[in-house]
Amino acid sequence: MTGYTTVPYTIAYANELVDEPILFEWHEYELRLTYRHPHRSDWVNGILRARSLDLRDRPKARGSERMRKLNVLRQWKCMNHLLCQVCGAPATDPESGRIPWLLVPTVFERTGEESGRTNAPPTCWNCIPKALKECPMLQDQAMLCTVEAALSAGVLADLYRARTPAQPLLWRHNVFVAWDAIAYHPVALAVAQVVELYDMRPVPEKDIARTHPSARVLRPQPAQLVGIPPVGVDQPGAPDNVRPPVTSPPPGISQVGR
Ligand SMILES: [Zn+2]
Repeated sequence: MTGYTTVPYTIAYANELVDEPILFEWHEYELRLTYRHPHRSDWVNGILRARSLDLRDRPKARGSERMRKLNVLRQWKCMNHLLCQVCGAPATDPESGRIPWLLVPTVFERTGEESGRTNAPPTCWNCIPKALKECPMLQDQAMLCTVEAALSAGVLADLYRARTPAQPLLWRHNVFVAWDAIAYHPVALAVAQVVELYDMRPVPEKDIARTHPSARVLRPQPAQLVGIPPVGVDQPGAPDNVRPPVTSPPPGISQVGR
């Protein structure tokens, strides 16, 4: 049992999961990852993306929900269009123009005083009470902020080495690969899009009570954006642009694994 009353928009269903073997091929004088029967849409900015189906609107075909799995296509869509990861509607506050974002340390890496990277899509104000209520991780570690902008920064990916072209070996799991870290693009299999958040402002609890009273009864943690340790940046041997900052569980969905 999941304990969730609704299935978050980014959660995968059983029949959406695609386990497609990957292999290396020679491409433009270098080895790159591909599928046995590739489509042009398998690559995003030169990085192979994990395949997935989107059957959310077909309840009879999609199978049961897999609360520990993310749907890659819907996660991507949420980041591209700033959609709420719980309901799939636009997350931007129409009055302020700012985007509410619920974060936990495991999906966030600070990059500056008021900026940071995450693979967790935003959560709209309407869904924040529900997310706080139903996700134990958020109840313990929630950080609520609003951001001015979120720009695509790269991907969360698994990196592979080629033992032989037909035998990719997993080299690094769940690392951040920047869009400009092109040396790693041929060996990366993207599992989520990562965005960088700008002008992050913690939401004081008194403001939550005033502007979003329904959120207060759920005792959201006061946002504590100062002092969040960067996740994994000191891992030995990590190249500058290939860091393991953000792991899978997004806000509103606890312990999502792959
Ligand atoms: Zn929502």
